[in-house]
Amino acid sequence: MRLSRYFMPILKENPKEAEIVSHRLMLRAGMIRQQSQGIYSWLPLGKRVLDKVNAIIRDEQNRAGAIELSMPTLQSAELWQESGRYDAYGKEMLRIKDRQDRPMLYGPTNEEMVTDIFRSSVKSYKDLPLNLYHIQLKFRDEIRPRFGTMRSREFMMKDAYSFDLTREAAEHSYNKMFAAYLRTFDRLGLRAIPMRADTGPIGGKLSHEFIILADTGESEVFCHKDFVDFDIPGEHTDFDSVEGLQAIFDKWTSLYAATSEMHDEAAFNAVPEGDRLSARGIEVGHIFYFGTKYSEPMGAKVQGPDGKEHFVHMGSYGIGPTRLVPAIIEASHDDNGIIWPASVAPFDVVVINMKAGDQACDDTCELIYAALSKAGKDVLYDDTDDRAGTKFATADLIGVPVQIIAGPRAVANGEVEVKDRKTGARETITIEAAINRFVA
Ligand code: ATP
Ligand code: MG
Repeated sequence: MRLSRYFMPILKENPKEAEIVSHRLMLRAGMIRQQSQGIYSWLPLGKRVLDKVNAIIRDEQNRAGAIELSMPTLQSAELWQESGRYDAYGKEMLRIKDRQDRPMLYGPTNEEMVTDIFRSSVKSYKDLPLNLYHIQLKFRDEIRPRFGTMRSREFMMKDAYSFDLTREAAEHSYNKMFAAYLRTFDRLGLRAIPMRADTGPIGGKLSHEFIILADTGESEVFCHKDFVDFDIPGEHTDFDSVEGLQAIFDKWTSLYAATSEMHDEAAFNAVPEGDRLSARGIEVGHIFYFGTKYSEPMGAKVQGPDGKEHFVHMGSYGIGPTRLVPAIIEASHDDNGIIWPASVAPFDVVVINMKAGDQACDDTCELIYAALSKAGKDVLYDDTDDRAGTKFATADLIGVPVQIIAGPRAVANGEVEVKDRKTGARETITIEAAINRFVA
């Protein structure tokens, strides 16, 4: 992508409305724009990051055996009347009437709709287990939308829903998502700790919130500090192994970890004082097992091996991609801007032409840009005629992991400078070596 043809509206000044660093940097880097309170457009740079986050989430959901579909944002109130949640949900639900005066709503979550899909076509235990997910916008009319997309009214959620014949089978489905979440957050460059959680309006019995420790987090959390260094389940984790996944779950729940709603002071005080971590955190995921809470009122049942009908045991599993993007920034930035983990960076490399219009600089940059693009890298080429200082500041602000800097003096020697955004380390190497580093 040539910056001169891109749309990346950088702000020079710090936006006054932004209280936390991620919100400030997302606005300054031209990633998002508020359209009305708590409702955001994702501008091209932000969209790139969001897409990369979603791709990792999707990959890990698929690995764990979940199947993607897409459900609509607008739902009929009828389904929610069946489950009894239409009245119970309260003011967070945006209620709408269509032209025939039929009550509709902008979905805050999808348990009812997915249960309806399930009951319309699954009739036998032989079709279980089943886990269906989508990545879709949600709307919750939050009392206090704030911190940009961290707590917005319209936001994106990956929500998965599992269906099983028995409680034991449902627990295995829960453990699959538990392990998938550990892997997902790790690949996003984050350390998320599963904590015992309240089930809230989703309802249910077994529930964990995945929390990233951050001073700006809205949750108050308490946990054993060893979680910070626990091993993440590997790429070859067997998601069909009941014992294997149970062992992962047992290990990751063996020490104290709870949010303030579930906090047990006495149990926490039993943790040796030096191992206690009491901190603030950002909830990036939340998983629930809730048994037959929806399948019973909505009549979602299958025939079991005993020939009888059984209400299915369900769970639901949410991750907030539009919250994860600022959460990653909270965890990874410096005074100059964002520092993206490579896995979600909007571009892999930015090529900075320090003197656009200078033939040698132009030729060198074009050569590198073409070679890296051909090798499948996402390359941003700063070909604008801004001052070099402005270009450096922009490259640091938007947090692309590697900068290749081509200035007249180095280029005259057949060289460019390569800068690592995170460490700030710079080295001067030949143009060929710079290309080979990414192509090889
Ligand atoms: P919170 O406690 O932060 O209000 P919640 O418990 O109501 O969230 P869930 O129903 O568990 O949220 O939703 C699953 C995930 O969706 C959350 O873990 C979070 O990542 C994301 N999420 C929920 N509400 C919002 C919001 N208003 N803005 C952005 N992301 C959200
Ligand atoms: Mg929650």
